[in-house]
Amino acid sequence: MTAPFSFAGAPRFALANACALASHLPAKITPVDRDGFALLDILIDHGRIAEIAPAGRSEFGDAPGVALAGCIVLPPFVDAHTHLDKAHIWRRASNPTGDFDGALNAVAKDRAANWTATDVATRMEFCLRTAYAHGTAAIRTHVDSIGPQTRISWPVIAETRDRWRGRIDLQASPLFLIDFALDEAHMANIEAMLDAHGSNILGAVTYMTPSLRDGLEILFTLAERKGWDLDFHVDESADPRACSLAVIAETAIARHFAGRILVGHCCSLSLQPPEDQQRTIEAVAKAGVSVVSLPMCNMFLQDRQPRRTPRWRGVTAFHELEEAGVNVMIASDNIRDPFYAYGDLDMLEVWREGVRILHLDYPFAKWAPVVRAAPAKAMGLSLGEIRPGAPADLVLTGARDFTELFARPHADRTVLRNGAPLGPAPDYADLDALEGLS
Ligand SMILES: [Zn+2]
Repeated sequence: MTAPFSFAGAPRFALANACALASHLPAKITPVDRDGFALLDILIDHGRIAEIAPAGRSEFGDAPGVALAGCIVLPPFVDAHTHLDKAHIWRRASNPTGDFDGALNAVAKDRAANWTATDVATRMEFCLRTAYAHGTAAIRTHVDSIGPQTRISWPVIAETRDRWRGRIDLQASPLFLIDFALDEAHMANIEAMLDAHGSNILGAVTYMTPSLRDGLEILFTLAERKGWDLDFHVDESADPRACSLAVIAETAIARHFAGRILVGHCCSLSLQPPEDQQRTIEAVAKAGVSVVSLPMCNMFLQDRQPRRTPRWRGVTAFHELEEAGVNVMIASDNIRDPFYAYGDLDMLEVWREGVRILHLDYPFAKWAPVVRAAPAKAMGLSLGEIRPGAPADLVLTGARDFTELFARPHADRTVLRNGAPLGPAPDYADLDALEGLS
């Protein structure tokens, strides 16, 4: 049996012989195979999971069955780091050098020229339809918040978040260089927009600028006053001297910061001398800071030089952070924009690529939290397991074990939300009007 599975549309039906990770289930179901999977029958009734039983041992009466034949069923994904406002601008703002500076320049030009409320709203809507179709239930996006763009984008964020409530839980964090934190007019603008339209999250890009410590003090102070969480883009650099991560962790510890902190990228950490790296990782663990790695985007941008083959995958010291007890996860980051030419807000693709780039295998199941439980924790979401009483939100794949899961894209997966199968991801042609193509 391969996906797509066929559903007759009955309100009460059973998924027969489904394969689920024991760690995604509330009670101990046996037997569990060497990869951590158990075979189950799942009864779905009017959009909710009514009952779960070991495969073949259930009595679900006359409920029609959908034969999953041992295929893997996953709970929906959580994508903790994206840029929905930049997405899908590649064709009008390509990055001729493919590197970080080329991306910054290309985005700045396109933003000034094209990012009207309609443009941002249309691309964000396309993103959410795509992520939803792929099986994502919660997303955090960063929002370029600089100059006049701040007051254009934030109302769009709020409208989009309201429209998608119940389907995708959308959070947003402002994005600007930490230097701008010292600009009072800029910060007044940020505070006003977050008060009106925000998600109680404040953020910035940190790097080795003279303004780093003063900027952090200003942002921590504002977050403490408001009860907001913090989210930083950190040390997205191959320069081992880039160590703003350590400064963030030290600041959080010194201030006894009570909110959640999520940091993304931290690329340079993996290139630092072992003693420095260890000291920073210990501080990150002590501060309770969560770390999100963006493996696809990092591998695209980092170590890119003309006419030279890349030697480094660009990712942070992921295993070492996890070993120290840090809440670690992976996420999409940019898609089809100057920072990353590819991507589709597909967390199964991110997981597959994460497994390959970061060696999130042996055992595979150990790392399953990086696409759901870990980002949910960092985002303050309480998502439960696959359990009776929960909405029947499930991603049904055609794979029967981890190598089948990660060997193919599973573009034909079936995503159930409230027990009903979703349609496919939107057609790229839906974006043509933005580029004057239709
Ligand atoms: Zn990012």
